[in-house]
Amino acid sequence: MAEFLNGWKRTGMCAELSLQDVGKEVLLMGWVQRVRNMGGIIFVWLRDRSGIVQVVFNSDTLNEETYALAESLRGEYVLAVRGAVAKRDDAAVNEHMPTGHIEVLASELRVLNAAETPPIYIEDDAKDNEAVRLKYRYLDLRKPNLQQTLMLRSKVVNAIRNYMDSQGFIETETPILTKSTPEGARDFVVPSRIHPGECYALPQSPQIYKQLLMVAGMDRYYQVARCFRDEDNRADRQPEFSQLDLEMSFVEPEDVQHIVEGAFNSVFKAAKGMELNLPLPRMTWKNAMENYGSDKPDTRFEMKIKTVTDLVQHSGFSVFEKAAEDGQIVCAITAKGAADHLSRKDMDALSEFVKTYHVKGLAWYAQNQDGTVRSSFAKFFTEEAMDALRKEMGCVVGDAMFLIADKRLVALTAMGQLRLKLGHQLNLINKEAFNLLWITEFPLLEWNEENQRYVAAHHPFTMPMNEDFEMMDTAPEKVRAKSYDLVINGIEMGSGSIRIHASDLQERMFSLLGFTHEEAWKRFGFLLEAFKYGTPPHGGFAFGIDRLMMILTGRENLRDVIAFPKAQNASCLMMDTPAAIQEDQLKTLKLHFDIEE
Ligand code: ASP
Repeated sequence: MAEFLNGWKRTGMCAELSLQDVGKEVLLMGWVQRVRNMGGIIFVWLRDRSGIVQVVFNSDTLNEETYALAESLRGEYVLAVRGAVAKRDDAAVNEHMPTGHIEVLASELRVLNAAETPPIYIEDDAKDNEAVRLKYRYLDLRKPNLQQTLMLRSKVVNAIRNYMDSQGFIETETPILTKSTPEGARDFVVPSRIHPGECYALPQSPQIYKQLLMVAGMDRYYQVARCFRDEDNRADRQPEFSQLDLEMSFVEPEDVQHIVEGAFNSVFKAAKGMELNLPLPRMTWKNAMENYGSDKPDTRFEMKIKTVTDLVQHSGFSVFEKAAEDGQIVCAITAKGAADHLSRKDMDALSEFVKTYHVKGLAWYAQNQDGTVRSSFAKFFTEEAMDALRKEMGCVVGDAMFLIADKRLVALTAMGQLRLKLGHQLNLINKEAFNLLWITEFPLLEWNEENQRYVAAHHPFTMPMNEDFEMMDTAPEKVRAKSYDLVINGIEMGSGSIRIHASDLQERMFSLLGFTHEEAWKRFGFLLEAFKYGTPPHGGFAFGIDRLMMILTGRENLRDVIAFPKAQNASCLMMDTPAAIQEDQLKTLKLHFDIEE
């Protein structure tokens, strides 16, 4: 039943038509969204990526053959329709449809292709099972929401490219078949045929290449880079993703931040028609942890954390007193006006919730509007201590207060999570706001319990802060890095740093991370050597384009902003990948899988 175009040319897209086009002769092509046969008159909704327009087939004006063809139309048939744009009668106007004031009176019709009944509904709110949607992704992608997201994504990437270009950045592609890049995840590997027994690694990021481009004197590099990380999939991860990757020579953190801010401004202008307030606020990692219990604080609402150890160390409450004695902290938040909204059951649920963040418990206090006080700990407190605590925390009638005692970072992190939970539960978050901010001065290293050694908090190429150099040998855990993250609404958008550009310092960093001299040279010798031939000071940044799209579209799932995403378990349900390879391919690669059944 398929037909050819035979010279028919489209005059435009379906939803571009409006009252201004009334009387015009048009030729549209698209898919049948819906057919309503009223007997003698057939209404067809024709859809393309611009939207939907109503086409009318009238038996009074059409020849029999064309009308009969119109009667045969079904959902998802592909049509070419010639007709005239007409104003709808007032009674027939559809205000919910952008083209609802007009319709196209068909004069000719060609069915370019028929379609079987699709296995999913092609409508935004359809409730089909996600596995089926992913298997038929090409049909899922016909839905207006997904199409608009992909179109917006293209616009956003375009805006970034234009901006980067205007700032003198050179777009450069770096290899996909490469060597392991240490970003902290597992590598995907590709066995080599020419070098049996050896593998390439897919890049976790173009980190080393972009630094080598700085050694090469390219000065300003960027790339929309595909990166691969073999992590256990979570809702907010995909095994492959795109990031805007950039690197600059002769710069300090502020210079890189300035460029990134400009890039984000151009994105928000293109996608939302809004200008950001620049420069963006900056907060040190230490302040973020102390005030928000998170290195990616959601600053759309207040409810800051306070450390009250000194205040409660002689309160009479042995749990807090003991914590203070043991060098732990007690931290607290006040939820303004929340007392009457939190039942005993809610308090118990919140106590269970914080325990999942490895603290022993939650101390809570609520003073209802009628003056009743409910609390898990007030009875142990002296009156003065309670007064002092309430005063410090600004806790008055109607408010609730929460306290946690534990090791500093453990307590702060759990409190940060509680703060977020309450923010959602009490509806304190302005969903319309975009709060962007920089988090700076991260620790250079993190202690890895499992391997009993330090690991790089960002990556091993990050420059320590000058004033902390001396502590690299004496107190490495205290060294801060010239690194910075960009956070939007509590989500980490990207990170970057000034890099180490001296071979000896880079070697010292590798040794802090537990590499011997030989191991460091074996893995990164090419880089250590490169640094000896005149490397400029340099730094850069990378941000995830998929995540950015999630924020711009208000989606909660990365899969909704990627054309062909992997399912939760890293497989592609449409192409059925990963898949076993053929016996002769295994032989050529000299590969043998030893899989226990
Ligand atoms: N390579 C880093 C990453 O992918 C970003 C950077 O430091 O530029 O997260």
